[in-house]
Amino acid sequence: MPVPTPASAALFERARQVTPGGVNSPVRAFNAVGGTPRFITRASGPYLYDVDGQEYVDLICSWGPMILGHAHPEVVAAVSGAVARGTSYGTPTPAEVDLATALVERAPVEQVRLVSSGTEATMSAIRLARGFTGRDLVVKFAGCYHGHVDSLLASAGSGLATFAVPGTPGVPADFTAHTLVLPYNDRDAVAAAFAEHGDRIACLITEAAPGNMGMVAPEPGFNRFLSETCAAHGALFVSDEVMTGFRTHAHGRWGLDGELEGWRPDLLTFGKVMGGGFPAAAFGGRADVMAALAPTGSVYQAGTLSGNPVAATAGLTTLRLATDEVYAHLHRAGEAIRAGVGEALSAAGVPHLVQTDGTMFSVFFTEADGVDAVRDFAGASAQRTDRFAAFFHSMLEQGVHLPPSAFEVWFLSAAHDDAAVDRVLTALPAAARAAAAV
Ligand code: PMP
Repeated sequence: MPVPTPASAALFERARQVTPGGVNSPVRAFNAVGGTPRFITRASGPYLYDVDGQEYVDLICSWGPMILGHAHPEVVAAVSGAVARGTSYGTPTPAEVDLATALVERAPVEQVRLVSSGTEATMSAIRLARGFTGRDLVVKFAGCYHGHVDSLLASAGSGLATFAVPGTPGVPADFTAHTLVLPYNDRDAVAAAFAEHGDRIACLITEAAPGNMGMVAPEPGFNRFLSETCAAHGALFVSDEVMTGFRTHAHGRWGLDGELEGWRPDLLTFGKVMGGGFPAAAFGGRADVMAALAPTGSVYQAGTLSGNPVAATAGLTTLRLATDEVYAHLHRAGEAIRAGVGEALSAAGVPHLVQTDGTMFSVFFTEADGVDAVRDFAGASAQRTDRFAAFFHSMLEQGVHLPPSAFEVWFLSAAHDDAAVDRVLTALPAAARAAAAV
């Protein structure tokens, strides 16, 4: 029996009058799974509470930022203190220096510039790469999402190493004519693109480990291969850690194997966790490249709310509290849920793959015979999204809020204790049977 949600339904109706689709970011509309999104009024620890009074174990965690759980008392206290001191000055502040220092200490960046969203971070990194190299072309991978930057909302053209076409109306073909879209984990495609266009490529941008087509890990050595290929052609290697940064590992995705494999990006982008649930993001990297930014250099980039003291305080407090124990906890809780999902789906006879990278994971409702891993967007796309939709709604009715799309990572936090994990495990068998019934 579906749980009645009249208050959410009424709000959704009102929302649709005043906002396209009733939401301020498309996937929140449940377009991929159908039904009425839940309007949340409060969150605490691992739980969300909706306007109908329902409680959900939250496996969205704001799409990554809430690594400590919701309303962590120390973050709330620090943010309250910052708000009381004034919310934005338009001058330099101590908090932004502290946050930048925390990023430099944790990630392979010499300098950073703070911005307000991941989209801004990648857009600015691309501009900087173009300004620094004096080249125009950008290489990206199909299935990697870098925010809604015009030149990166691009789909592959008609062949490998041909220029991309806009992935959405509203982007002029001229804007994507400087973008090459390649299949992920495909060294031959990368080598071919650089062989043909290497001296015109400003940068290659990739998610450090793609989490926007479900979780697709780089094959061993792939990031090193990318960094070496870029270096050999005088292009910059831009690693997008907006999602993975300080979530996959304390030192971001680079922390998993960067030092071990000997790769280091020229530029990185960050967001989500480093903003602690507030609009803060960053891009950074080699000091000589960052020096090309205004005011030291001539590449222009700016922002009224960049380094905002409240957002910087939330981010800094979150990073300070994200200790090794937090990452160990994410591993343990993730392991329990991955095992439970695998058991439940197998018992119900639902073909699937669970893929993990560091503390991040996702579930693919893939049934292609003989496929033992999803390694690129073509593989990720071959999913039974109808089965995911049934699974999603069963979980929701049992009080577990998954991301409403089959192509998303399931996010956990340090607050997902045994009680929260047990509720997820308890809900899984019925959801698996619902998926099997489709
Ligand atoms: N890069 C990556 C890897 C992301 O996952 C996202 C957001 N999901 C972005 C960039 C864009 O960030 P924002 O939504 O803050 O603009």
